[in-house]
Amino acid sequence: MKSFIDPDEIWGFINNARPTKERVREIISKSLDKQRLTLEETALLVQANDPELVEEIKQGAKILKEKVYGQRIVLFAPLYIGNLCINKCAYCGFKSTNEAIRRITLTNDELVAQVKALEDAGQKRLILVYGEHPKYDAKFIAGTVGIVYSVRSGPGEIRRVNINAAPMDIDGFRIIKDAKIGTYQIFQETYHEDTYAKVHLGGIKRNYEWRLTALDRAQEAGIDDVGIGALFGLYDWRFDLLGLLRHTNHFEAVYNVGPHTISFPRIQYASQLNIDKSHIVTDAEFTRLVAILRLAVPYTGLILTAREPSAVRDEILQFGVSQIDGGTNIEMGGYAKKEHAETQDIDLEQFQINDNRSLNEIMDELIQQGYIPSFCTSCYRRGRTGEHFMEFSVPGFIKRFCQPNALLTLAEYLEDYAPEATKIKGYQLVQKKLDEMDEDSFKNSLIEKLDQVKEGKRDLYF
Ligand code: SAM
Ligand code: SF4
Repeated sequence: MKSFIDPDEIWGFINNARPTKERVREIISKSLDKQRLTLEETALLVQANDPELVEEIKQGAKILKEKVYGQRIVLFAPLYIGNLCINKCAYCGFKSTNEAIRRITLTNDELVAQVKALEDAGQKRLILVYGEHPKYDAKFIAGTVGIVYSVRSGPGEIRRVNINAAPMDIDGFRIIKDAKIGTYQIFQETYHEDTYAKVHLGGIKRNYEWRLTALDRAQEAGIDDVGIGALFGLYDWRFDLLGLLRHTNHFEAVYNVGPHTISFPRIQYASQLNIDKSHIVTDAEFTRLVAILRLAVPYTGLILTAREPSAVRDEILQFGVSQIDGGTNIEMGGYAKKEHAETQDIDLEQFQINDNRSLNEIMDELIQQGYIPSFCTSCYRRGRTGEHFMEFSVPGFIKRFCQPNALLTLAEYLEDYAPEATKIKGYQLVQKKLDEMDEDSFKNSLIEKLDQVKEGKRDLYF
């Protein structure tokens, strides 16, 4: 297959962009009309360096969020299954040449202990993460997914298991599909092939094409719920932002459906980090790039992670991020040791994270800021795939499904896991949202379900 990434084309869009105030405002309005942006239009936003325009772009992203997505934020946690790795990614602590790192693959018992600890904190959605190693083949991955779904601790259960693992062949993807994974996520790291070659110094991951076409193989195997991402800081952020968009276009053109989510990790300190620092993305550039991404793909889920410090998180949440991780501990085996890490042991981890707060601290803060933390998995379990797209495009979908389900999963959390102070604040928020709803039979049905949650019923959804 001919690569859909053409660096000359992408640089052409960036270098030829001449943003005027009028044009930038037109582009923002187009996005606010719920239309996706072209590469050319996005390049104009990327090149709009006038501080007044940058502010307008950020305001545009905020308005879009208010208009379309409301106040829900879905929470998940990453769980590292194994850090054996044959690759030599210059930015990653798990690279095969790093002898300082302690190599661990969770045993089945250790995996169960991790999942119990996560359930006891109130988690319902996980992403399992693996190094690239022959031991972590599709069957192994499917086995770990099966274990995670089977673990029950008190009222806890994991209802959605996503995967971030190395690319597979079509048969491999079929195996993990049969294990009922949620989203299969893989990051291209950088779409710039020459830079890609400079930072991937050994192992299978050196093969740019094999990675770029991974999600096409996943599609062929029937996995249509996929997540893409770029690791910002390896190359010029403007190029990789357009690379993500080009990847999205490719998907829409060939499969008629875009990626379910886009991630935008930024490089963090890691054991034996060894990269050229000239493309490091500042906080100001980072918040700007996320606002542009929101406007460019108004209907795709955006994932923000604990790699980012809380101040950056707080700003970016206003641009319509759909999912964040909470209570994250990326130390191998870390969740079962203690509920949440106060300090990090960098020799057990892939990289440094910047947000070490517990799940409850994050829940509490989100509630205080007026967000509705959600653990909803209803679409996936009712076979409604592509929920971010439906939220966006189906009139009334958020009112009918997303918000009520968010409130129901919040109520479960408040009943089962929240300390009293969070519980009080949480129920005040639930009441406020009920007060804002029209008086009709649907509202009554939600109130009925909320009462059932208080009486001990679980896993109720619309
Ligand atoms: N080994 C698989 C792979 O490389 O695709 C799976 C997961 S890897 C453990 C998850 C992601 O972490 C990578 O795709 C990369 O984008 C990100 N990552 C690696 N090193 C990082 C660092 N120093 N800072 C921030 N993110 C990093
Ligand atoms: Fe291995 Fe993934 Fe780290 Fe690369 S990013 S060294 S493939 S774990």
